[in-house]
Amino acid sequence: MGLKVAPRRNVLSAINNGEANGGAPSAPADGGGAEAAPVVEFGGREDVERLLAEKMKGKSKNDFKGRNEQMSDYIKKLRACIRWYMELEDGYLAEQEKLRSTLDAENSRHTELEAQLSNAIEELKAANLDLTRRCESLEETLNREKSEKLIAVESYEKEKQERESAERSRDVLTVELERATHDAKRFSEQLKMVQDTNKRLQEYNTSLQQYNSNLQADASKSGETISKLQKEKSAMMETMAALRECHNSMSSQLESSRASQQEAIRVKEELRKEVECRRAESKQVRDDRDHAVAQLNSLNIELATCKEQFGRASKECECMSTKVSALEETCNTQQEQIQTLQKQLAVATDKLKLADVTAIEAMTGYEEQKEKIKYLEDRLAHAESQIVEGDELRKKLHNTILELKGNIRVFCRVRPLLRFDGDSNGPEGASISFPTSVESAGRAIDLMNQGQKLSFSYDKVFDHNASQEDVFVEISQLVQSALDGYKVCIFAYGQTGSGKTYTMMGKSGIDQKGIIPRSLEQIFKTSQSLESQGWKYSMQASMLEIYNESIRDLLAPGRPNSFDMTTSKQYTIKHDSHGNTTVSDLTIIDVFSIADVTNLLEKASHSRSVGKTQMNEQSSRSHFVFTLKISGSNENTGQHVQGVLNLIDLAGSERLAKSGSTGDRLKETQSINKSLSALSDVIFAIGKGDDHVPFRNSKLTYLLQPCLGGDSKTLMFVNISPEASSVGETICSLRFASRVNACEIGIPRRQTQARPFDSRLSYG
Ligand code: ADP
Ligand code: MG
Repeated sequence: MGLKVAPRRNVLSAINNGEANGGAPSAPADGGGAEAAPVVEFGGREDVERLLAEKMKGKSKNDFKGRNEQMSDYIKKLRACIRWYMELEDGYLAEQEKLRSTLDAENSRHTELEAQLSNAIEELKAANLDLTRRCESLEETLNREKSEKLIAVESYEKEKQERESAERSRDVLTVELERATHDAKRFSEQLKMVQDTNKRLQEYNTSLQQYNSNLQADASKSGETISKLQKEKSAMMETMAALRECHNSMSSQLESSRASQQEAIRVKEELRKEVECRRAESKQVRDDRDHAVAQLNSLNIELATCKEQFGRASKECECMSTKVSALEETCNTQQEQIQTLQKQLAVATDKLKLADVTAIEAMTGYEEQKEKIKYLEDRLAHAESQIVEGDELRKKLHNTILELKGNIRVFCRVRPLLRFDGDSNGPEGASISFPTSVESAGRAIDLMNQGQKLSFSYDKVFDHNASQEDVFVEISQLVQSALDGYKVCIFAYGQTGSGKTYTMMGKSGIDQKGIIPRSLEQIFKTSQSLESQGWKYSMQASMLEIYNESIRDLLAPGRPNSFDMTTSKQYTIKHDSHGNTTVSDLTIIDVFSIADVTNLLEKASHSRSVGKTQMNEQSSRSHFVFTLKISGSNENTGQHVQGVLNLIDLAGSERLAKSGSTGDRLKETQSINKSLSALSDVIFAIGKGDDHVPFRNSKLTYLLQPCLGGDSKTLMFVNISPEASSVGETICSLRFASRVNACEIGIPRRQTQARPFDSRLSYG
């Protein structure tokens, strides 16, 4: 966090050189300007501190020129110091800017990288998903094919079994058929035999019948033989019965044979039927077989087609397998790709992490830089505050120089030419010029009068372009002094119409406000900001007019519109031993805010304006005195300060001859002249260091005695009318102001119990 500042010439050397030359700087205080002055450079804060700690040394108390030059030199150094700080700040701001842009670029690169990565990952994920899906569908198809193949094989097996069983039943049937055929043959042979026996029996029957007839013929021819033959016949009869019996048995045998033949025929019929049935069966079986064969064939065909299908399926399967393998390959390659991508991702993540780390580093760097910047800003702020302090110190020193000079300060203000002064061409301007040479710029005024150039110089000269703000800036320090416990007195002096009231009070409108409202604003603002340091202020305002040596209370209740000489109110002015002034019966109002004072000012200006219209331009013939008493105390330090701010709009300074007045007007003018001449008498008496200062010669001088008596910071505005017709009065005013400017009215003392700025104000 070291400050890299190129080695520079030590400011001390510049300071020391100045001292070595006996306190006389090498360049003239006002003449040289920035270019001619020694270039003071700063190597660091110590130099600034050294510069701030620099003590004023002068040959003697009255070596004002020397002190002045030294002060100018000091101011230049302070300026150089400010420049140095500004350069330093610029450098740091540039560095900060650069770092910020680098950080932004890093951030954007980081975001881009992230976006690319996430895109790649998304794509890969999608491809992977697609492949997985395809793989799954392929596996499904394969499984389906396999199951179908299994079913086909099963049905084929069943067919085969059925065919085998059919063949077996066919064989059985064939055997049965053969047996049946054999049985039928046997039965037909038996039938043939039975038929043969029957035929023979019939033949035997016929022969027997022939024999019987032969016998009967023999019976008829041989009678004797009949008995014999009867006997024989009975025998024969017996034999015949036996034969009949035999015939019956034979007949029954025949009958049974016939029955058996019938039975055999029936059996044969049955057998034939059975055979036919068998045949039909066999045919059926054959048909079945044929059918089965056909089925078998068709099954074979189917099998073939199945096989074909299977082949095709296996081919497909193979193809699928190849595809699957191809897909697997692709998958593998994709997996490889994924792996490589994952690797890349890892690398990218690493890179990202690295980038993060760099970003964090950059961030920390940035933070460091920020801290650095903050530190620098703090330092800058500190330095700035120091500068401000230095500036304040400078102003205070300026004050001190002015105080040491002991003069009442005089500012001259020339108002612009007013357009409508009755003359249609506008008023003719006096030949007033403002020298611009370095030493007298803003401090001198030249006036041509009857071919003669009159030159005047004051502490400050405001030309017609100076705004109210410009004027106030120059006196704000003086106003601040009132808060610091000084008695401050600001007069506006000049002929009627020269701009006294405009300068002191101003006009309505923000930019037109005069010293009084601006001073009050500043006092309230500053007192508020000092509250944080423990200061508490209370303020009291009063406003009065002095006309014809009598006092009029502008804040008195009611609406006083004239100077009532018979009033019971005395308005006696009294001073106590502490230099505090009181005016009896005068309305004093505690004010707490700018709004309070604005109301009072409005009331006062209303009172005055009433007077203006009703009392014949009385306002220009009266002195207006605004007094703000400020008492402040600090709880923390136990300090108490009491300041007074007197803002006075004097009556017109024009001389009697010009007015050409008589009567009341004469008295009025005399009274004005009296008080103004009393004022100048007082100032000059103080300036001369007279033992007796005629404060009591007028109400105004007596009222302002503590403020004029050397305890006060006094400033006088000399207001000038630029018209040619006013040249005479202008010369008088300028001369009077010059005399006042040359007066020493003593060193103002601050009314305080502890002096916070003593250490700083210890020059000389
Ligand atoms: P005084 O109080 O000395 O009699 P005023 O303050 O009343 O004079 O001024 C006279 C006129 O000149 C007023 O109208 C005022 O507004 C105007 N005037 C005075 N000074 C200025 C200025 N610096 N710029 C503009 N107008 C001004
Ligand atoms: Mg006026």
